Amino acid sequence: NSTIGVIGSGQLGRMLAIAAAQLGYRCHVYAPETGPANDVAPLFTEGAYDDEAALSAFAAQVDVVTYEFENIDAEAIGALPRVHPHPRAVAVAQDRLVEKDFVTKLGGRTAPYAPVPDRAALDQALSRIGAPAILKTTRFGYDGKGQARLSSPADADIAWAAIGARPAVLEGLVAFDHEYSVLLARAADGAVALYDPPENVHRNGILDRSTLPAPAIVAAQFAEASALARAIADALDYVGLLACEFFASADGPVFNEMAPRVHNSGHWTIEGADASQFENHVRAICGLPLGSTALTAPRVEMANLIGDEAADWPRLLAEPGLHLHLYGKHEPRPGRKMGHWTRLAE
Ligand code: ATP
Ligand code: MG
Ligand code: MG
Repeated sequence: NSTIGVIGSGQLGRMLAIAAAQLGYRCHVYAPETGPANDVAPLFTEGAYDDEAALSAFAAQVDVVTYEFENIDAEAIGALPRVHPHPRAVAVAQDRLVEKDFVTKLGGRTAPYAPVPDRAALDQALSRIGAPAILKTTRFGYDGKGQARLSSPADADIAWAAIGARPAVLEGLVAFDHEYSVLLARAADGAVALYDPPENVHRNGILDRSTLPAPAIVAAQFAEASALARAIADALDYVGLLACEFFASADGPVFNEMAPRVHNSGHWTIEGADASQFENHVRAICGLPLGSTALTAPRVEMANLIGDEAADWPRLLAEPGLHLHLYGKHEPRPGRKMGHWTRLAE
């Protein structure tokens, strides 16, 4: 009968609130704007994501605070009581340079990378990393936004302008066979539960599909990748669901990035695992034991409905055994995640 405070009003908060309701918890959403989560949980709109006074007024009204996106002020939430996951996870995950340095120190393998605080540094970075490469803003990038690919050093000016001339990281292009994610839940007592890794396929920089089981090369690298994810979680004293994206390369798992929250590549767990990522996040932050992450079917597929694709919902709804999720967003803008479906198979 306690109340969970969720910072952020997107579909992740919405699905979190639905899972919380099943376990008897209420959610209260902190967001300056309305969003999918507000349909299922009341909204607290008194401040912005960096407003310390409003955040602490919010925290005073709830029993535990969590968040569904990482572009919040790490210091502001660091000052709040009872925040899970640990605000340090936000500080690390919201800055690609900090994140890569952090993972490298833990012994993880990343793409070759170099800091690009300004235009001059881009030339230096290119001479170190070479081309092809990807320039990514250190902060606020998602769904492939804030990124530019360079096929040669001659693309430097265009790429720098394309990302808005903001502090960035230059990454070498990783030759990978497959992409996958490690979805890990860590309880307050340090217990860890791992989901089977989905293979993730992106389209236009946005997650398109997650499929299980993943190809054999992913299974072969999963022990090493999940050991790194566990080391990250332990180092951050992490409580909740942590998602780490990896490339399966010939050299082994290459860490791409992490999300200190429930993740799109874990949506399949709602029907495809005993306890979903949302339920395990709620269990962890509320001090309950973690639930089973076992698959409920041998094969699971999740597909995002991006932009216009959600207009197809009557056809999807008619398919027996297809689990349709719509987020209640009104305007289907291009590239906008409107919903998803999950299909289980023998
Ligand atoms: P998300 O929505 O997952 O947060 P993002 O905008 O943070 O996405 P990334 O995950 O960094 O972006 O990159 C998006 C996609 O671009 C990756 O999933 C991968 O397919 C490709 N990509 C990114 N970095 C590299 C790299 N160094 N080498 C090869 N491909 C890459
Ligand atoms: Mg990202
Ligand atoms: Mg990503």
